[in-house]
Amino acid sequence: MAEDQAAEETVAPDQAAEDTNVVDHRSPAAEVDDGLRYPFEGTPEAGSVIEVAKGVFWARIPLPWSLDHINVYLFDEGDGWTIVDTGSNGSRGIEAWEAIEASVFGGKPVTRVIATHLHPDHLGLAGWLVERHKASFAMTMTEYLMASHLWAGAAQEFPEHELEYLFSMGVDRQYEPMIRSAGFGNYKRGVHSIPPVFTRLEDGSEIDLGNRRWRVIMGRGHSPEHACLLCLDEPLFISGDQVLPRITSNVSVYAREPMANPLAHWIASLDRLKQIGGDPLVLPAHGQVFYGLHARLDALIDGHLRKLRSLHGRIAEKPRSPVQTFPALFRRKITGFDFFLALGEAVSHINLLESVGLASRSFDDGVYRFEAQGTYDETDVMASVMALKGVPLRSLADFE
Ligand SMILES: [Zn+2]
Repeated sequence: MAEDQAAEETVAPDQAAEDTNVVDHRSPAAEVDDGLRYPFEGTPEAGSVIEVAKGVFWARIPLPWSLDHINVYLFDEGDGWTIVDTGSNGSRGIEAWEAIEASVFGGKPVTRVIATHLHPDHLGLAGWLVERHKASFAMTMTEYLMASHLWAGAAQEFPEHELEYLFSMGVDRQYEPMIRSAGFGNYKRGVHSIPPVFTRLEDGSEIDLGNRRWRVIMGRGHSPEHACLLCLDEPLFISGDQVLPRITSNVSVYAREPMANPLAHWIASLDRLKQIGGDPLVLPAHGQVFYGLHARLDALIDGHLRKLRSLHGRIAEKPRSPVQTFPALFRRKITGFDFFLALGEAVSHINLLESVGLASRSFDDGVYRFEAQGTYDETDVMASVMALKGVPLRSLADFE
């Protein structure tokens, strides 16, 4: 009930800019959860926004998946709007944007679209919005190129090398017909089009957004070159999928790069974000806007270190394929599309253990099996990850 009332009271940005009696959505009794605080009551309803800082508006676009929404952020630029992230391609997302255009934009166009990374829930409607409003588009180079690659590479047939990779990771060959029938075009279905022109966001560079300076901070592991935006003028941090409250982002190894070590990059990226001072208001891509960045970063890193311990224990019993390690990593039974996310996640944890000398692989009957080496110690693992060549990112102090 309280949430419904809050939504009704949501103020459109064109009013908020002038109206000093803007409804304050900050909850007097902010919710507390594992050191995180959620200062806004409820979440934005369809076609409405919550002003999280002056001229910065939080909206939601529905997604047709079990994760049923993405947060997008709108910046009043005076003569138009900049939006960060867009929702996935499809009628529900388009209807949601049309409602926002009608109730929030005040007749002004979208002048710039920024995508934090390539995943369809973030990039999916960028092409549609850019085309519709003649807006500019910004993204990091690797995300842009990988998005273009995935979009162009969508296929009806499941590629043979992808199938062989799945079998080599322990997927039973009896599932071959089911996997083949899924096709290989999901990415293209979720992404309207790739904007043909873009402005490159680089790690450490600065951009103007909503009358403020922001630093682009790149993160790796969840996607190749994910852009977060740290406000330099007030404590605000757009975290995309790099830092989410309550849920953890998928960190996967894919068939195209089977020896990748995304979990090492992910942990190093999270560790670097601990260099951000103070307690900024975090604007994540899913869940609620929150305070408690440092507590969340610690919890995310600790969660992976615990999973690595559990995994090391399981492959210490006997050599196991990645699929056979699932019970060490996931509490619930893995079914449907989650299976592929889970496999990617299992391999990312295994590859990290291997990279720091805590696992070794053998190949027999077309399947990789992994066996534990050495003794697992969280502190040693963290130090080993940060000592891996090419993994640590530049200090944020270098950008100042
Ligand atoms: Zn993502």
